[in-house]
Formats: sequence, structure tokens, C-alpha cells
Amino acid sequence: MDIKLALSQWTRNGARELIDLFFPRSCVHCRGRVGRESPLRHLCTQCAARIDTIKPPRCTTCGYPFHGVFSEAVETRLCPHCEGLDPVFSEGRCCVLLKGPARSLVHTLKYHRGLYVLEDVQTLFSRSPALAEWLNNAVLVPVPLHPSRRRKRDYNQSELLAQAISRAVSSKSQVRAASNIKIASLLRRIQNTRSQTRYDKRARLENLKNAFALAKCARVDPEQRYVLVDDVFTTGATLNSCARVLRRAGCQHIDVLAFGHG
Ligand SMILES: [Zn+2]
Ligand SMILES: [Zn+2]
Repeated sequence: MDIKLALSQWTRNGARELIDLFFPRSCVHCRGRVGRESPLRHLCTQCAARIDTIKPPRCTTCGYPFHGVFSEAVETRLCPHCEGLDPVFSEGRCCVLLKGPARSLVHTLKYHRGLYVLEDVQTLFSRSPALAEWLNNAVLVPVPLHPSRRRKRDYNQSELLAQAISRAVSSKSQVRAASNIKIASLLRRIQNTRSQTRYDKRARLENLKNAFALAKCARVDPEQRYVLVDDVFTTGATLNSCARVLRRAGCQHIDVLAFGHG
């Protein structure tokens, strides 16, 4: 290791330990104390162990894992989570199942201005199997917020997630091209749809149909592979609506990636 890098890491770790000593971290899920032995900085050891990182075999559209032994091909299996979606994108992946502690990470980021949890999100993305290879040569496109919500929140969590993914991939990657993964804000939200959680599946799809448009001055390369990034894949309606805009603009290769499935 480079001596400068080793020194800066040593100083950073030392400073962290000192801060932890005076300001012990509490778990964003159970509020218990986060000890030094925890693999994550903002979840305690027990809560961190409850996070389900998604591994294959999984649904190729929404990324939900298929459990158990089965004989048929994964591509032909019907998935109850994305049934009826009619995807405009090719493949969808998610990093973790959105329940318990993973849900608390997303809530802290979105609703409590807890940008510090991005460090843990990055760690979890870096555990996602073969993500660096999958993102090789892709351009990440964050799902946009409506300008009024963006002003209110002051940041777009999908943009921050795209940056965390980029860092996760470059810190682990053996694939050189993935180490300078690009992020492009190609989309804008033109309808300020109300929170989706109160709608059923069909209403969500309808509600989001024309919610997005191409950003002003956005240029798309039909040959480029774009990967849309969102915090959560629930019905896929948001990501599919964004994919439709890119498809209409001429994009041929569109995939989607979310932090949590649920
Ligand atoms: Zn905990
Ligand atoms: Zn699915």
C-alpha cells in the first residue's frame, strides 16, 4: 500500500475511534449501541446480521431472489413481485431485501436527513455479487425528484445512491472501466405525484405514466448502456416510467438498479 494512503487511513481510523469514544453511535434500527465489532457503522451487530443481501438465482426483471430448488429456467419463472409490469428495461437488480434494518437505513436517508448511512449503503453495495462486472461501461441515471420536493429535501437520495454505488464498485473492482463509472442526470420529474405508498399496484402504474421527461439539454447515446438508479423497487412503476422516457429518446440498452426490494 502507498505510504501516504496508509497514513491517511490510519489518521482517519484514529479520528473515528476518538469520535466514537466520546459520541457512541446508536443503531438506526434498534437504537442500541453500535460496537466496534459491527461490520456496519450505523447498525449494531445483531441488526447488521439481519440484512439479506440478494444473491442469485433471482428474478431478472425485479431482482427478487428465488428460494428453494427448482428445475425450470430462471427467465421463465413467474415472479409475483413484478407480474403485470411489462418492463421497458432489460434487467433489474436490487442490493438487499427491504425489511427491518435495511428499511431503517432507507428511512434514515430519505426522511431524517441521515446522509451518514450512505457509508453503510456503500458497504452493502460492495457486497452485492458481481455488481462491478454488471456495471462495467454503464452510465448511472438517478431517478429525479420533482424540483419542489428536491428544494424541500435539499438532496436527491437517488443521486447520492448512484455516487455510493460508484464508490462501492471502484473500491472493489478488478474491472478497470468500472472504476470511473459515470453518473448522468438525464431525466426530470414533471409531475409532483403524491406519495405512492397509499396507492394499489394498478393506481401506481397509472399515476406515474407521464411523471418524467428528458432533462433539458440531455443528450443520449443510443449505443450507451444506461442503468437507472432508485432507492427502492416496489412495483417497478417509477423505474419503468423513467425507462420509457429513455427508450423514447432512442436508448437501446436500459437496466435498473435499486438499493432495496420491497
Ligand atoms: Zn440494532
Ligand atoms: Zn420479479
